[in-house]
Amino acid sequence: IKTYEGKRVIVVGLAKSGLNAARLLKKLGAIVTVSDQQPLADNTEAQALEAEGGYTVLTGEQSPSQLDAGFDLMVKNPGIPYDVPLIKAAVDQQLPIISEIELASEVSEAELIAVTGSNGKTTTTTMITKMMNQERHSGKSAYAGNIGVPASSVAQSLTEDDTLVMEVSSFMLLGTTSFHPHIAVLTNIFANHLDYHKTRANYVKAKMRITANQTADDYFVVNFDSDELVELSQQSQAKVVPFSRLGKTKEGAYVSEGTLYYQDQAIMKASEIKVPGEHNVENALAAIAVAKIEGRSNDAIKHVLTTFGGVRHRTQYVLTSEGRIFYNDSKATDIEATEMALKGFKQPVVLLAGGLDRGYTFERLVPFFKDHVKGIVLFGETKHLLADAAKAAGITEIHFSGNAESGVAEAYQLSAPGDVILLSPANASWDQYPNFEDRGDRFIKAVEDLTGKKEEL
Ligand code: ADP
Repeated sequence: IKTYEGKRVIVVGLAKSGLNAARLLKKLGAIVTVSDQQPLADNTEAQALEAEGGYTVLTGEQSPSQLDAGFDLMVKNPGIPYDVPLIKAAVDQQLPIISEIELASEVSEAELIAVTGSNGKTTTTTMITKMMNQERHSGKSAYAGNIGVPASSVAQSLTEDDTLVMEVSSFMLLGTTSFHPHIAVLTNIFANHLDYHKTRANYVKAKMRITANQTADDYFVVNFDSDELVELSQQSQAKVVPFSRLGKTKEGAYVSEGTLYYQDQAIMKASEIKVPGEHNVENALAAIAVAKIEGRSNDAIKHVLTTFGGVRHRTQYVLTSEGRIFYNDSKATDIEATEMALKGFKQPVVLLAGGLDRGYTFERLVPFFKDHVKGIVLFGETKHLLADAAKAAGITEIHFSGNAESGVAEAYQLSAPGDVILLSPANASWDQYPNFEDRGDRFIKAVEDLTGKKEEL
């Protein structure tokens, strides 16, 4: 654990993570300056730090002269590109730059498990934390990171008996130099986020930072269904623990004839996993691998996988009423996520979709509509574009509603016992909602009101 006593640190980019990094640094005795481009008048984090006192707070335009005071360390928000003048100047001066997760992991005494990948991070991180806590050995496990809880807000509350399960994005990993998880998980790599990383090679490199500092005492849990990842795993110094839904290996966690295994132990049937879809079988396998490395029992694992209904807004099970099963996948803000959700269901689906128009068309969804969707209720700016795709797929029940929640009754009308009613919008929410969480919450409320039921989520 590094000491920060008397260190002069500049935190660049506030938001939730910068705010918590600044507070943590101050607690550790550092002399803290923060710099954020948002003017003070509408910068709630900067105002909070001003009110708490003991910080030098710089707001508004960020110039290299902000470094003139002299610093030992910069903690940079991962969203800030390296080509803005302030960061460029820091690089030129060879000022060490770390990110908030790295600060947190240096400060925390807890054992670190880190999860990255293009998709499945939050689900896998949640499954792991539940399995760890289902059967506690010594301390407790807590999740943090990209999952809505800044790592530096929990770092100090954990002891050496505890485990910190951190969800890390490739943005976060880009800023790391000494980040060193005992168990690193790489769920998959898809070709998204390429606008920021410029090229796929850079994106892959950022993800591989998760294992860059691992040694032979550590573990690297990797998806062996991807030939690319099998190859990449050879770069790791850690013990590689594979997982494979397609049964490509009999080491690690894998599926064989519909049963989930860890090495030679059968754990449960894949069909007993409560969260739907093949992608969630992969997430479950990744979580199983970690839980087994950590010595958890098959019973503890099975309990979690048969009861966990999914992360809020991510193909989340809501409730069942008169044979209709409702799911909230409001997090599906792009076409790929909706494809994934539809593929996950064997039952006929009545789909609610639509939202912000980003200039995309939806032909890509036609085959998935054909295979899975019996009726569709559309809302938001893209409703007519989606209707074109639905028509092309031969769907006859195409309806329009004012928004996601007002479409629930209509969707119910189109459904029969045994059907799935799914909100998976394939679009961002900002044309009608402040965020996808609000859209999902309103959908859940409408489902509860319509059915008169409420299940614990
Ligand atoms: P992340 O935290 O990486 O965004 P989530 O667990 O929140 O991932 O899942 C977001 C969406 O990504 C899900 O609703 C699903 O559509 C898709 N998804 C989840 N897990 C996987 C996976 N293992 N492979 C492919 N897609 C996935």
